[in-house]
This record gives sequence, structure tokens and C-alpha cells, in this order.
Amino acid sequence: MRPRNLLKAAALALIAIVATGASAAAQIRVVATTPDLGSVAKEIGGDKVSVVALAKPTEDPHYVDAKPSHIVTLNRADALIEGGAELELGWLPPLLENSRNSRISAGAPGRIVASEGIKLLEIPTSFDRSKGDVHSLGNPHFMIDPVSVRIIARNIASHFAQIDPQNAATYNGNLGRFNAKLDAKFAEWQKELAPYRGARIVTYHKDFIYLADRFGLTIVDELEPKPGIAPSPAHLAQVIIKMKATNAKVILVQPFQNRRTAETVARQTGASVLDVPQQPGAAPNTTSYFDLMDSLVHTLATGLGTQK
Ligand SMILES: [Zn+2]
Repeated sequence: MRPRNLLKAAALALIAIVATGASAAAQIRVVATTPDLGSVAKEIGGDKVSVVALAKPTEDPHYVDAKPSHIVTLNRADALIEGGAELELGWLPPLLENSRNSRISAGAPGRIVASEGIKLLEIPTSFDRSKGDVHSLGNPHFMIDPVSVRIIARNIASHFAQIDPQNAATYNGNLGRFNAKLDAKFAEWQKELAPYRGARIVTYHKDFIYLADRFGLTIVDELEPKPGIAPSPAHLAQVIIKMKATNAKVILVQPFQNRRTAETVARQTGASVLDVPQQPGAAPNTTSYFDLMDSLVHTLATGLGTQK
């Protein structure tokens, strides 16, 4: 390259760097605890936000492997979206404390708690944490309920508008588009699962109750005796009796749960084990919340259809 052209190229590169820097700086840095929350944040924030999730799609949201890099990510965040209802109790509080970031401290506009405004199911009347139960404030696995997600999306849009008032109209517009798509998809998912209303299912953890409630499925039992307590032989023997008595033919598992245990129970009951991750990115071609739900509903309908 001739010196003059070189100079021109360098100048252009510099302009590009400055421009990129400016647009990156203008974006709100959003951290979501889990990819499902991150996906909804992307839909609402569009190009005005950058989103990272702390948990991997294949990780148990109750037991995420906390890393020093998470502290750095949280330290730089403009907003944090958490599931709440103590979903992340086992790993998020120490990360937050070390991140020393007042923008995402409790009560700040940058702190978004998804469970706020959600009608939580299974709120215990009395609770003894020593028994190991991890659902102390009610069931925190509500993201697979489209009606709850509508509330969460509104909550996220409202917080984004507070943090970044200049782009409030954009967040509102994105929320409108998200809701329209959610309504259309919800109708599709209802239609696909309608033939299986009343179908009896078994899950590993108590993580499908909102889906069952919304789509009219009946959960017979869980392989875990209590949320967060590993299945015991005595409990599994009871589950097998119940499955045979109720003719439950599918066992739902997520990637971080013990599939081998589920397979053992399935062999003794003539049931199938269905892989139904709840996080976008865990199954192929599921980058968004909509892809995730499409895949989940389809796997469930296919599994229940085969068993009919
Ligand atoms: Zn749980």
C-alpha cells in the first residue's frame, strides 16, 4: 500500500474504532442470571442493549458454577435480571457482594427481579430449609409459562426505560412486538398440546408445574423426593407404583439431571424419557425463548403422542 493510501486506511480504521466504541458505550450492559431471561431481554432491548447470561444453557439454575469472571461481568453491568424467588440463592449473593456495583443493588432501577408480579405456585405455608428444599418462597420455574413471561417482559421494558429514558419508545415498541408474537405462539402451543390435556407426566425436579398448570397436564410425581434432594431408592419405588397405577408414560428431564435414574424408572414402567431443556441454547437451533418453547412443546407433544 502506498503511504498516502496507508494513511487513509489508518484514518478510516480509526474512525471505525471510534464509531464502534461510541455505539458500544451507548448500549445498556445487561446481565441475566439465566439464558431464558437473557433471551427476553434481547427481544425487549434490541440493539440498544448487550446481553450476557451467567449460567450456561445446560447448567442447573439453582447450582451455577460461580466464577471470578462473573464478578467482573456484574461489576460492569448497568442492569441485572434475576429469576428471584430464591432461584439463584445458592450462588448469586456472594457474586453480587463482590461485584460492588450500586447500579444493580437491590431496589436500584438496574435490578430486575422476574418473580415480582408473578403469581407464584406452591408457596409453602411452613418451611424448614434444613430438609434441603430449595423452593422456600414458592416455585421459581415460571419461565415456561407464556402468561408469566408476558409480565416479565413488561417489567424488563419498564426498567430499561428508567435506566435509558432516551430510548423508552424503542423499548415500548419492542415490547409490543414481543407480546404480539408471544400471543400468536401461545395459541400455536396450546393447539399442539390440546390433544394431551389431562395426560399424566413425571418430572425429575419440580420444574414443570407452571407448564402443566397452563396447558392442562397432570404431574403424577417427581423423581426427587423434595426439590433439590437426590432421588432415593425408597422414593423411586413409590414413584414406580404411582406411575403404574396412573399409567404415566413419560418422564421429563433437563440436561443437568440424572438421566440414568430416569431411564431406570422408565424401564420398570414402560415409560419414555423426554429431554426437555428449559434454557435456549441447550437444544440445537434454540437461540431465542420462542425457539426454546417451540422445541419443548414439540418434544412433549411428540412424546405424549407416541405413548397414546
Ligand atoms: Zn427448582
